[in-house]
Amino acid sequence: MFGLIGHSTSFDDAKKKAMDLGYDHIAQGDLDVWCSAPPQLVEHVNIVSAIGKNIEGAYIDSCFVPEMLGRFKTARRKVLNAMELAQKKGINITALGGFTSIIFENFNLLQNKQVRNTTLEWERFTTGNTHTAWVICRQLELNAPLLGIDLKKARVAVVGATGDIGSAVCRWLSERTGVQELLLVARQQQPLIELQKSLGGGKILGLEDALPEADVVIWVASLPKTLEIDKAKLRKPCLMIDGGYPKNLDEKFNGSGVHVLKGGIVEFFTDIGWSMMELAAMEKPRREMFACFAEAMLLEFEGCHTNFSWGRNNITLEKMDFIGQASEKHGFSVIGLNPKLQAAI
Ligand code: NDP
Repeated sequence: MFGLIGHSTSFDDAKKKAMDLGYDHIAQGDLDVWCSAPPQLVEHVNIVSAIGKNIEGAYIDSCFVPEMLGRFKTARRKVLNAMELAQKKGINITALGGFTSIIFENFNLLQNKQVRNTTLEWERFTTGNTHTAWVICRQLELNAPLLGIDLKKARVAVVGATGDIGSAVCRWLSERTGVQELLLVARQQQPLIELQKSLGGGKILGLEDALPEADVVIWVASLPKTLEIDKAKLRKPCLMIDGGYPKNLDEKFNGSGVHVLKGGIVEFFTDIGWSMMELAAMEKPRREMFACFAEAMLLEFEGCHTNFSWGRNNITLEKMDFIGQASEKHGFSVIGLNPKLQAAI
């Protein structure tokens, strides 16, 4: 069985969903009540892949909401409790979705193997970042040419280049896709210099300087909502792949030759009988999902019960090949630019 640990995109959404599911006592509570609410296994699902493999899964809501990010102990407890529940339910491989993988890494939860009387078995969990990185690369390769961008002549900025997903994307783009130049963007200089060395190229730039030079911008950093960018300075056309979480770039950039694509999202070939992706505000919630969630499904389809994506900057091209091939074989495709928008180009 595979598992997905997720959460609502806001406190208001979480309360609405809890009401729909009949958890009225929690739904009516304030943020303090939600801080002490335990995780809930809210849905079981059965899925048959495009080649006829049948698997079962479960969705666990961690009862975390982004409004809790500032409460370190709460965020930590929410993630660990959800992982404990997944393990106690006997789930073989569970993806940490949304902010949960970021909390796990940034708060160094590897040190917290013991949750009450449960010793967490890390091999039962994956961040899903290998599949996310592969999906973002394929989205770039498939959609840039639709906008008339020739990748061999293109400059591609990776914002969050030194991160787990960003560094994997950089490796793939320099070794497999072959773009003209990679623009490496992050705040800390030393990891950028090390990445540049390991890639054997790439130009280190600040965000302000990178954006006007880029034909494609891959965003794989959680950026503040308040970030101001002057649209007039961007190249036209420009493809923006919004791989961060939350996905909040379309309202900033859409229109006038700047095309925003939701990064790291895949579509399954047929409807799935779950309602949980409505929480994640997917356009087709019966088919679309975060690539990190799909990674847990793929590992279950492949009988690969191991923490496939784990730690930081461990994603290899071979692992991306494996998960990418599994993705296509079992019926996932990467989501592309809005067809209405394409028709207008
Ligand atoms: P990491 O923490 O490993 O990396 C974050 C990167 O962003 C680092 O390079 C960091 O470098 C950089 N960064 C952070 N803040 C800024 C800033 N203000 N300006 C420029 N660079 C910045 O994260 P992951 O690789 O695990 O995840 C990256 C993003 O992808 C996250 O937002 C995550 O939520 C999202 N994600 C999306 C998924 C999906 O949509 N399917 C699935 C999984 C993750 P530095 O600190 O030096 O600036």
